[in-house]
Amino acid sequence: MYNIFIIYTGGTIGMVKDPETGTFIPFDFKLIEKNLPDLSRLNYKLTVHSFEPIIDSSNMRPSIWLEMAKIIRDNYSLYDGFVILHGSDTMAYSASILSFLLEGLQKPVIFSGSQLPIGEIRTDARENLMTALEIASAKRDGVSIIQEVCILFDNKLFRGNRSFKYNSDKFEAFRSPNYPVLAEAGIHIRYNEEVLANNAGLEFICHYHIDNRVGVLKLFPGISEETIQSVLNSNVRSIVMETFGSGNTMTDSWFLDLLSEAIKSGKNILDISQCKVGSVELGRYETSQGLKAIGVLNGYDMTFETAVTKLMYLQGELSNQEDVAHWVQQSLRGELTKND
Ligand code: ASP
Repeated sequence: MYNIFIIYTGGTIGMVKDPETGTFIPFDFKLIEKNLPDLSRLNYKLTVHSFEPIIDSSNMRPSIWLEMAKIIRDNYSLYDGFVILHGSDTMAYSASILSFLLEGLQKPVIFSGSQLPIGEIRTDARENLMTALEIASAKRDGVSIIQEVCILFDNKLFRGNRSFKYNSDKFEAFRSPNYPVLAEAGIHIRYNEEVLANNAGLEFICHYHIDNRVGVLKLFPGISEETIQSVLNSNVRSIVMETFGSGNTMTDSWFLDLLSEAIKSGKNILDISQCKVGSVELGRYETSQGLKAIGVLNGYDMTFETAVTKLMYLQGELSNQEDVAHWVQQSLRGELTKND
């Protein structure tokens, strides 16, 4: 009998249609149990913690991330694995921040949810939840096969901090183009052994600090000086700058001067690409050479979700901006691949 801890935060999986308005609203875990009578026949001892209130994941926030991390810390030694039921809209943010807050994991933390509520006939919820439970309990020689924070959706297991919601319409809601799929469920669940995290020997540490003073500057041709200034002058410690292609920007001196001033004033500017596949390569083109010279940081192939949450985590842990700048460019939990 496997001991699995389910954390239920909300999301479509447990929603019902409001008869008056026709919109989906979160409902409690009993709805999931009612629609999944098989749960009680399985070889699992399930413990469920439901958040109060349960939410649509668009209302996710740092205080809930910290609570999730604490629940896992408090129950870590008692359970074989953890399944977090969560709306898909912001699931990649939650999976990313949890991957940073939970260091040295040697047990699976599997996020899942669904695109259709569990009460609907064609729902993807049953399959997702059952597969998540199976992966959360999978062991080899008594050791958990999965030792990291993942997302399970539509029969694919992704590294949480490598994935993003890419489709709001299909059951295949997530992708992680810059990192291979960790496992695929068909008749058997096949694990892609070479790409799984192995944290054997590491100490499990739960971190509790988040500093959300992070801004975003998404570039587009024609963006005005005022718009850029308003982001750079805002009360944040770091800015994720979403650039073109392999990390390129316009080369106008007014633009580079603004970035340089912000960096000199102590702000971190992290370059990630608007492309979903590939990596920033500072200095590959003339249009990114100047960035490197003024101290823009390399975000390599990090997702936007990871860039933002990694900065929140690092800022929570480190008061020194230079330390944040150093660590954000390193792979802490397999979230980036360096190319220089
Ligand atoms: N709006 C929902 C949520 O993120 C969508 C979902 O669950 O898939 O909570």
